[in-house]
Amino acid sequence: MDTTANRFRELPSVDGLLRLSEPTVGLWGQAAVTVAIREELTNLRAALAEGQRVDLSPHAILEQVANRLARADAPTLKPVFNLTGTVLHTNLGRAPLAESALQAVETVAGGASNLEFDLQAGERGDRDSHVEALVCELTGAEAATVVNNNAAAVLLVLNTLALGREVPVSRGELVEIGGSFRIPEVMSRSGCTLVEIGATNRTHPKDYQQAINERTALLMKVHTSNYAVQGFTAEVSEVELADIARQHALPLVIDLGSGNLVDFGRLGLPAEPTAAAALSAGADIVCFSGDKLLGGPQAGLIAGRKDLVAQVKRNPLKRALRADKMTLAALAATLKLYRDPKRLVEELPALRLLTRPPVDIRATCDALLNTTGQALGSAFEVSVADCHSQIGSGSLPIDTLPSSALHCRPVDGQDSTLRQLVNALRGLPIPVIGRVHRGALWLDLRCLESAQQAAFMDQVGQLTL
Ligand SMILES: *Cc1c(COP(=O)(O)O)cnc(C)c1O
Repeated sequence: MDTTANRFRELPSVDGLLRLSEPTVGLWGQAAVTVAIREELTNLRAALAEGQRVDLSPHAILEQVANRLARADAPTLKPVFNLTGTVLHTNLGRAPLAESALQAVETVAGGASNLEFDLQAGERGDRDSHVEALVCELTGAEAATVVNNNAAAVLLVLNTLALGREVPVSRGELVEIGGSFRIPEVMSRSGCTLVEIGATNRTHPKDYQQAINERTALLMKVHTSNYAVQGFTAEVSEVELADIARQHALPLVIDLGSGNLVDFGRLGLPAEPTAAAALSAGADIVCFSGDKLLGGPQAGLIAGRKDLVAQVKRNPLKRALRADKMTLAALAATLKLYRDPKRLVEELPALRLLTRPPVDIRATCDALLNTTGQALGSAFEVSVADCHSQIGSGSLPIDTLPSSALHCRPVDGQDSTLRQLVNALRGLPIPVIGRVHRGALWLDLRCLESAQQAAFMDQVGQLTL
């Protein structure tokens, strides 16, 4: 008791410590250092009260203060290893950008640019001009515009073309895309009235015909990207729907979700509708994401008929939803890669990862097996196992890609042991995120390319269990 009381008296004062912290104050400022010293002293008092042996020398305390400040200053948004097996993982930032897109962002981000300045005319320009021609070239659209994401694109298109009017949508297409994006809710926020037609599993042309009246603004089709209705089903094709729309002089809008620009079948991937196919089938407007299968930055692309796109661009909401210069720079660079289909798969990380040969992934697993096994220690049995990756971002979860994983199983079979591993990996400076399935942690190495293997081994080497 007596010794503890003495030790309390050994604690240096805040002022005394501040006087010794000149370099730290130079780095972080007096106010932040004072707060950190107070916090550190509070911790030390608590430790002393518990009878812990702690170093009370000013030198040791100031080192802790400096560490504390450095930790608080570290960015909260940081890289992670996505070994979940879901390539376009919304929670992990979706598509990794191509090298050329990164460079394009760097080129414009740090200074002034001609974002909305027409260098030829010397007058105000249009920010869409940096991507519009490319989108038109790649989709066959007459005109295009870009907003913050595809949710914004759907909202803006409906608000422009259907405000205060009705939009029939098949009951089989009223999708929810994770988080809070649900078609019925976006429609009501956009100011139009959803008219549900057909049944969950079957919708027919006559359902649209019967729903159309003088209040109808447009017909909309939503690509049901994240689920499949199977069995006794019927949907109205784009071509049929375009026919019905034309009979009634209504625009046809298709929310493609992922809306990729190349034929996925040709790459050996599950087929997804392309923007070009939807437009040539008769859609007047298509909307799709920039950071799903397209492999670019977060953005929403709106492409189609010139008069309709012009209307969309005149909507005051466009200003609230517009894309910034970094997005436009990255998007333009990404779209340019699509001009050379032969190099596309090599240079666009999203497609490179999705088409990565299974033998290659397997070889990565084999190469990292021993190091990982040693780092995890005897409490875990690590082996190489077959698994299936998912495309992610609302692409069909039933369409999977054969892959391989490091399979980490706790020898004691305890969930708590497994949880310890999962937490430790998540706590690394570059966190490693895997997937827990059937009592084991699966590290699907599809998204660990050779350039990142050394960094991964370095992280795993720092693991303390
Ligand atoms: C993903 C998706 C959206 C939303 O796109 P974001 O770019 O995430 O805003 C909208 N509609 C469909 C059909 C989708 O799949």
